[in-house]
Amino acid sequence: MLVDSHCHINCLKGAEEKQTIQTYLDNANDVGVGHFLCVSIDWETYPEVLTIAEEHDNVFASVGVHPNHDEGHEPTVEELLEKADNANIVAIGETGLDYFRSEGDVEWQRDRFRRHIQAAKQCNKPLIIHTREAREDTIKILQEEDAKQARGVMHCFTETWEMAQAAMEMDFYISLSGIVTFKTALELQDVAKKVPIDRLLVETDSPYLAPVPYRGKQNQPAYVKNVAEFVAELRGISLEELTEQTTKNFFELFNSARPVT
Ligand SMILES: [Zn+2]
Ligand SMILES: [Zn+2]
Repeated sequence: MLVDSHCHINCLKGAEEKQTIQTYLDNANDVGVGHFLCVSIDWETYPEVLTIAEEHDNVFASVGVHPNHDEGHEPTVEELLEKADNANIVAIGETGLDYFRSEGDVEWQRDRFRRHIQAAKQCNKPLIIHTREAREDTIKILQEEDAKQARGVMHCFTETWEMAQAAMEMDFYISLSGIVTFKTALELQDVAKKVPIDRLLVETDSPYLAPVPYRGKQNQPAYVKNVAEFVAELRGISLEELTEQTTKNFFELFNSARPVT
């Protein structure tokens, strides 16, 4: 069974209804997607994320505040640690830097990023990194804060091979989303072929970024299968082999997550 290593189930259309969430998870199960990591983006909606993980054994959760979130509560390291001290929380994030969507002085983004790394190291849970147009600073801060101790994943990876290598040197994994299926994503497809198979994860980042052939529609966890199929074909391996390896990678990285059989 595949894992959707990064999704926002609480942001899917109709997610206020428990039954609707169940339908999304059933859709995914029907195509061979067995586990999900539901990722937090802010303090205010974190309880929704946690509830979904509490109610479903095959859904894991993270705690963190997204780099573009410029309103709402700014957690301290202690507050992150308090929330992370929970069996449903298997990672810290998403965190990182995004200079594309924030303007002006973004020192606050870098400070927030550092606090997340410090929390991850202290609680020994891996980091989920979001990075956009901030390649050098992202790697620099990960190195300065010794994020290698916590490890983590570069989620929805759209950067260069050089950046992938720099991340993998710190024992990070590379996660591919539906963007890799876009016709214009030639450079990324090249990266997708080169990343060692034991460092690869797949994700939807749903409800955003639906893969081909659903581009423009709402994305959902079931579509991680389309990402996986595309990457398997690129690499010239079977879907089964890609599934087996990426699922193994997921549970190696997020090692407090318990698979449901
Ligand atoms: Zn992200
Ligand atoms: Zn995300």
